[in-house]
Amino acid sequence: MAYNITLIPGDGIGPEISEAARRVIDATAVDIRWDVVQAGEAVIPEYGTPLPEYVLESIKRNKVALKGPLTTPVGKGFRSVNVTLRQELNLYANVRPARTLPGIVTRYENVDLIIVRENTEDLYAGIEHRVGRDAAESIKIITRSASERIARHAFDLAVKQGRKKVTAVHKANIMKLSDGLFLESARTVARDYPDIEFEDMIVDAMCMKLVQSPENYDVLVLPNLYGDIVSDLCAGLVGGLGVAPGANIGIDAAVFEPVHGSAPRHAGMNRVNPLAILLSGVMMLRHLGENAAADRVARAVVAVLEEKKSLTYDLGGSSATSQMADAIISKL
Ligand code: NAD
Repeated sequence: MAYNITLIPGDGIGPEISEAARRVIDATAVDIRWDVVQAGEAVIPEYGTPLPEYVLESIKRNKVALKGPLTTPVGKGFRSVNVTLRQELNLYANVRPARTLPGIVTRYENVDLIIVRENTEDLYAGIEHRVGRDAAESIKIITRSASERIARHAFDLAVKQGRKKVTAVHKANIMKLSDGLFLESARTVARDYPDIEFEDMIVDAMCMKLVQSPENYDVLVLPNLYGDIVSDLCAGLVGGLGVAPGANIGIDAAVFEPVHGSAPRHAGMNRVNPLAILLSGVMMLRHLGENAAADRVARAVVAVLEEKKSLTYDLGGSSATSQMADAIISKL
């Protein structure tokens, strides 16, 4: 069966890593017709927006996309393309696994976490305004429906993957109404899953415990902002942003993308790690039901990591992005 899949190369390092991932995925012989659509900084002069309508149309048509990172200027200009895309397509669950990878030396062993981040509301609703010259307000939106939906996604994932525990992360001691509602919703959903242990943790304590003993945690469910921050922390536990994949899942579409951004200072140098987007591609293959191909790519990645001959700078090597991809292809 042939799949039509949207490929958004992205800004900065996006084109080089997405090309590497595409070559590896094509080498599995899964029949994919890539619908390559450009978004981001490069299309602003022509379309007046980093997210032209054809990008959303392509994803709506194909239902699955692999996406490189897109730049969002800090403090000015367009709203984040990534946030807009997630909201427009209602990609409500951002799933980010953080697993110890064989061959990558880190401070920790046996990390096997899944971050399930709510992807549509919280402070990312983008409702901000200045109050006079010297103050500004951001509005944090938390709804019962989105909170229950993300909690259910986390518990369903736990059941599907045979996991033991879900931890809801919040700051309900301070934000008693908004985070309080998130926690209340998670508790309500937890009652439907008596075989999965449920606990909750205040986000600051969670950060400390994750750096002390990450092996004690399994599935974490968080509102949008804490999920964004804690998933970078968890990427750091297993080898950094270069190896951290992610998926944005909705009812009608799914967009797979690395946790990292466009790393502009490395752009065009063919030196960054392609694994984060490639492992996002592995998640995509599983989403398509192509588990054998996903397993083959995952095994080839591990073989290259264990061999330690074709690693990018962030993993202690000096290989180019394209060389690492070639090495993975040769192991397939
Ligand atoms: P970043 O993730 O782009 O890079 C931070 C640092 O992480 C880099 O300088 C580099 O040292 C390391 N890194 C990132 N990816 C790597 C890789 N594949 N291999 C090796 N090292 C890697 O974060 P930033 O610099 O804060 O953000 C740059 C831009 O990316 C911003 O405009 C931001 O808004 C955007 N961004 C986009 C997404 C997305 O598209 N989903 C996510 C995060 C940030």
